[in-house]
Amino acid sequence: MTARKLIPLHTLLHDIRACTVCAPVLPHAPRPVVVASADSRILIIGQAPGARVHASGIPWSDASGARLRNWLEVADETFYDASKFAIVPMGFCFPGRGASGDLPPRPECAALWHQALLAQLREVRLTVLIGQYAQRFGLGDAFGPTLTDTLLRWRDYGPRVIPLPHPSPRNIAWFKRNPWFEADVLPTLRARVRAVLQE
Ligand code: SF4
Repeated sequence: MTARKLIPLHTLLHDIRACTVCAPVLPHAPRPVVVASADSRILIIGQAPGARVHASGIPWSDASGARLRNWLEVADETFYDASKFAIVPMGFCFPGRGASGDLPPRPECAALWHQALLAQLREVRLTVLIGQYAQRFGLGDAFGPTLTDTLLRWRDYGPRVIPLPHPSPRNIAWFKRNPWFEADVLPTLRARVRAVLQE
């Protein structure tokens, strides 16, 4: 066990929120967005904040977040209750925009913080992996060859892990091309979320 894992969670979160490691490469001042508590039951691992979340400092406070809460079938007050949901993107800061949308999460982030942070979330019963970066991190060799292939095998990852596509409005064409996702995955996701929150 590394020394980092011994740091109390509130100290670790304080250190993350003060992190400026990527300042030289980000197009703005770092603003890490992360929510977690030692009691969190469901872990949401997403990609990275977008511009609206960067501005608000509130995770998933955008159209993607509204769709995600609909998928999970939870109200805002439940989603933002850290004793219920930990919200841990692969990159805690908005990475900026590229030619075809937001840039990938900064790779420094997971390397620096995720092992220590996730090790302290001992009450997590369900991990939701949103998008390819979270799925590569959470599933390792089980990811691939494409995100769709990975999602089609969603039953293989066990009752404690569910991979999801990113709920961004940019993915509406994917949702339409893959009606099995709404028909098969969402009812199971909602049932597992309900069960975990009622335990
Ligand atoms: S993206 Fe992560 S590693 Fe980079 S400045 Fe933000 S918190 Fe630090």
